[in-house]
Amino acid sequence: MFQDQLNSDQTCPCGSGKVFRECCEPALQGTQPAPTAEALMRSRYCAFALGAIDYLIDTQAKEKRQPGEAELLAEQIQVTTWTGLKILSTRKGLADDTDGVVEFEARFESGPQKAILHEVSRFRKDDGRWVYVDGEVELRPC
Ligand SMILES: [Zn+2]
Repeated sequence: MFQDQLNSDQTCPCGSGKVFRECCEPALQGTQPAPTAEALMRSRYCAFALGAIDYLIDTQAKEKRQPGEAELLAEQIQVTTWTGLKILSTRKGLADDTDGVVEFEARFESGPQKAILHEVSRFRKDDGRWVYVDGEVELRPC
């Protein structure tokens, strides 16, 4: 599905400057889990941008999953175009850590509206894989 929209040789949507194949694609494809909280965050941004709903649910902490979440995400993804990601800061979240925090700004457009989502996200490692726990979200028009 999402592979059709992006070639492995194209620049990764997460803004790292690397090609997709050498950045978020292995995490999204499930061939290599994201090694750090920041890498997971980047790959989840790509999943939002590309509509990889299963990946978004798989990489969320189990206790935070809501019934009907896939449908909700599908609706959100339909009406939202993600146009850029900027990582502002990270705390822990490295390969040897068990938790981490990533602060970022993601730009998006929804219909005529343009906005920036600012989030301080918490991540945790479950069974050796990083998952998204929750975050403090702030939206502002731009
Ligand atoms: Zn990437």
